[in-house]
Amino acid sequence: MTTGFLHHESYLWHDTRSAGLYLPAGGMVQPGEHAENPETKRRLRSLLEVSGVMDHLVQLAPRPATEDEVLRFHTRDYIESLKTMSAGNGGMAGEGTPFGPGSWEIALLSTGGVIRALDAVVEGEVDNAYALVRPPGHHAEKDEGRGFCMLGNAVIAIKHAQAVHGLGRVATVDWDVHHGNGTEHGFYDDPSVLTISIHQDDNFPTGSGKLEDRGEGAGEGYNINVPLPPGSGHDAYVATFEQVVAPALRAFKPDLIVVPSGFDASIYDPLGRMMATSETYRRMTEILMATAAEVCGGRLMMCHEGGYSVAYVPFCGLAVMEVMSGANSGVEDPFYAAASSDGGGGIMPHQAAVVDAAAAVASAIT
Ligand code: ZN
Repeated sequence: MTTGFLHHESYLWHDTRSAGLYLPAGGMVQPGEHAENPETKRRLRSLLEVSGVMDHLVQLAPRPATEDEVLRFHTRDYIESLKTMSAGNGGMAGEGTPFGPGSWEIALLSTGGVIRALDAVVEGEVDNAYALVRPPGHHAEKDEGRGFCMLGNAVIAIKHAQAVHGLGRVATVDWDVHHGNGTEHGFYDDPSVLTISIHQDDNFPTGSGKLEDRGEGAGEGYNINVPLPPGSGHDAYVATFEQVVAPALRAFKPDLIVVPSGFDASIYDPLGRMMATSETYRRMTEILMATAAEVCGGRLMMCHEGGYSVAYVPFCGLAVMEVMSGANSGVEDPFYAAASSDGGGGIMPHQAAVVDAAAAVASAIT
């Protein structure tokens, strides 16, 4: 198995400004570090190197996305406003999305990095790939940024894949703890892209990601939301992948699977209330890899989204990269014993009910 890995130092220079968690500093919010800061990404990359897994990965270099590529999803007005603010002192791309000077160029490099990783998989340069990019993308809608996301990285990359490589069907499996509203929005009426999001019910964006939101027009039935209750852990996630994700992918038969990958469903995340461990991410990746091998020759590309536990994101990411590349580092997750003994690893009836309801939606896929 050859696995591509894409990252660039510039991604860590995107400035999300002074904040307390996700609130801008000011008033009674003392100035401090924004939750979406470079550190989780830097430490994930560092652990891949120190564990030795990086030696098994094919390094891919990003290039900036072109404006024409970005315009396949976003409006001209939106990108002009980003360019103007970025050329000055920075600004807000939308709800909860602060950025500093120069972030437009970094956002283009982030989107272009996801396109590059996708190209490498589609063209057979590597079997699968992970793009550790920043800023993230899955909350961005066509005319506004949201939730720390400026450009819809996965949406733009998939539209590129269809336009340039002639790919027919593409599926997305978003395991970030927050709803992948931007990806849903990008393909809501499009039957050629199956969008699946597994997220904490009504966390962010509020009111978004309901089970009954199944797409519209020709795209009806090709959007699957799995709004798991807060507190869902390993067994609930594995059940979702076994009973919803894998059957939906087998029925849909995509040419490529794209995973907007957030590690904020972990038990230690400050912005989610789920209980996934590194083993949960390992098992989800195993199921995806097996299903991808069955339906699309193993073509799988992941792009980085959220994940805010500075200490724990690296171990979740390491588990994913070990499975994708087949490289076993022998590194044990030092948090696992504590993380898996906190309760919540089993599946509770109200969680199973959501998985069952989503499985019924998935069973309608053709
Ligand atoms: Zn998230």
